Amino acid sequence: LRANLSVIQKETGFVNGLIVVLHDITEQEKIDAERREFVANVSHELRTPLTTMRSYLEALADGVMHDPVVGPQFLNVAQTETERMIRLVNALLQLSKMDSRDYRLSKEWVDFTDFLSRIIDRFEMTKRENVRFTRILPRKSLFVEIDGDKMTQVIDNIISNALKYSPEGGEVIFTLFEENGKITVSIKDEGIGIPKENLEKIFDRFYRVDKARTRKLGGTGLGLAIAKEMVNAHGGNIWATSEEGKGTQIILTLPYEPSEEGEWS
Ligand code: ADP
Repeated sequence: LRANLSVIQKETGFVNGLIVVLHDITEQEKIDAERREFVANVSHELRTPLTTMRSYLEALADGVMHDPVVGPQFLNVAQTETERMIRLVNALLQLSKMDSRDYRLSKEWVDFTDFLSRIIDRFEMTKRENVRFTRILPRKSLFVEIDGDKMTQVIDNIISNALKYSPEGGEVIFTLFEENGKITVSIKDEGIGIPKENLEKIFDRFYRVDKARTRKLGGTGLGLAIAKEMVNAHGGNIWATSEEGKGTQIILTLPYEPSEEGEWS
């Protein structure tokens, strides 16, 4: 609700009335405002790598190209920025697909215990050696109906973040359990953490706690926004808990119906 206040004043300066007009800010206005903000954000996010590239390419054209040391370094910056833009545009395309009316998940029955283990295995092969993984997974199979590719992307994003922010010698703990008609996945790190007042915002498009730092780490600020939309499209929820300086825990739930058959492996 927005209030406009007008004072009715006579020429003598004597106030003899007040008009209060109350506007209901409609859903449409809110959507329009969000859309404008989104376009402004996209433009800004694209302009940053583009201006960087322009200045490096200009320097190369002005002669740096012939410098055997600095030349390749400048080319490398231009390449890194191009890759960031590709990541960004891919993420934007994905968001726009999800926003469209005929967005469909292609679901199949998947044993989530096995599914999560495989993703962790994949990260275990490539992660820094000074980060430890701990798994607290059930021994039984937990069959859920999910879009495997989409859910892989969600989990990948959460694990990448956990690794990005993990300190030397940090531990990442993966937990999976089933309770009250849902499965719960938690990925907990011992990283820098997130201030309380920003906890919900990290799922907003383009939100980053520390813009400079996450840019350096190559992030787009869209990963968790996409993850949230995907989890919601599956009928699940995703949220974060965190303690600054101690670590962050991302928790997600998905609907699960225990079945008699095939539950025990
Ligand atoms: P980005 O591409 O910047 O990582 P995300 O949408 O994945 O974008 O995350 C949004 C922001 O949330 C990050 O920029 C970072 O500030 C914060 N964040 C996400 N995961 C973690 C984590 N595990 N520890 C600390 N901060 C995190």
